[in-house]
Amino acid sequence: MRTATLGPAERAEALAAMAERELDVLVVGAGVVGAGTALDAVTRGLSTGIVEARDWASGTSSRSSKLIHGGLRYLEMLDFALVREALKERGLLLERLAPHLVKPVPFLYPLQHKGWERFYAGSGVALYDAMSLSSGHGRGLPVHRHLSRKGALRVAPCLRKDALVGALQYYDAQMDDARFVTTLVRTAASYGAKAASRARVTGFLREGERVVGARVQDVEAGAAYEIRAKQIVNATGVWTDDTQALIGERGQFHVRASKGIHLVVPKDRIHSTTGLILRTEKSVLFVIPWGRHWIVGTTDTDWDLDKAHPPPPAPTSTTSWST
Ligand SMILES: Cc1cc2nc3c(=O)[nH]c(=O)nc-3n(C[C@H](O)[C@H](O)[C@H](O)COP(=O)(O)OP(=O)(O)OC[C@H]3O[C@@H](n4cnc5c(N)ncnc54)[C@H](O)[C@@H]3O)c2cc1C
Repeated sequence: MRTATLGPAERAEALAAMAERELDVLVVGAGVVGAGTALDAVTRGLSTGIVEARDWASGTSSRSSKLIHGGLRYLEMLDFALVREALKERGLLLERLAPHLVKPVPFLYPLQHKGWERFYAGSGVALYDAMSLSSGHGRGLPVHRHLSRKGALRVAPCLRKDALVGALQYYDAQMDDARFVTTLVRTAASYGAKAASRARVTGFLREGERVVGARVQDVEAGAAYEIRAKQIVNATGVWTDDTQALIGERGQFHVRASKGIHLVVPKDRIHSTTGLILRTEKSVLFVIPWGRHWIVGTTDTDWDLDKAHPPPPAPTSTTSWST
């Protein structure tokens, strides 16, 4: 395997090569799902292409809360299988797959009730850590600890004294989401996948009932290509319905777009050495350390306007926080 470059020359070569010979798999959309699919396909020995309408990870995959988490709150919903799988993946990313991109991040969970809450939440994080360790890939993170009110205020002096009776601190992981996707695409290209950004699918080629290829517009140079493939993967995230509509049929899936807002706050405005996880009416709110900033979020509301550029609402709107 040689390390691939994703430059203009490689992009032009990739578009020409995809148009020349039928691929086994063409992936449409290069967010984390498309990039991961392309890497999976090419490392199985399949001839693979991936086209992205804008830049790598320019959709949701560069606008996440940047957490690689095992889904602690899914434990409360008793979805053990999901948590087990997510913790295993978290461990693999931390230890083996991308230790240069995925880092541990501490979270403080303030306790508001004496007694039962420490037992309830403490059992949850203990189980979370135990499941992580038993996945065989959990050693990359410190285990949780119990803190008194004084101890909690020492690590997070920003908290109001009367807002907590104590706290738990546990670890999850975070990554640079856009860089992570770009690395996936580049790794796929290193294994021989053909990858072109600024290449939008504008229609599909059909033979009878079968979709046998895609029409791709080179958004940079204006040229149009027909790329044929035995299988086409629609990995266009919130654009899934638009992509399905290009086939002229109602697809199997309907994706409901929702919008999540993060507040980005300079580091010195919140006096804390740890991230925070706080309960909200509907879900949880994260305060996540991110370089010289904190990311605070996120909201979760339906969105049916421009998917490429969801702006924040007018200041008068009400928001509900969750992630
Ligand atoms: C606010 C928020 C916070 C989140 N936080 C986290 C988190 O902390 N951790 C976590 O694991 N997950 C998080 N998620 C979930 C995660 O971000 C998404 O599940 C993931 O990014 C979806 O990736 P995707 O590849 O399906 O979609 P996208 O990243 O949106 O990729 C779809 C791509 O398809 C392209 N495309 C569309 N139409 C075409 C076309 N016609 N031709 C070619 N390309 C096309 C788009 O340009 C886009 O790049 C969060 C989600 C939100 C909304």
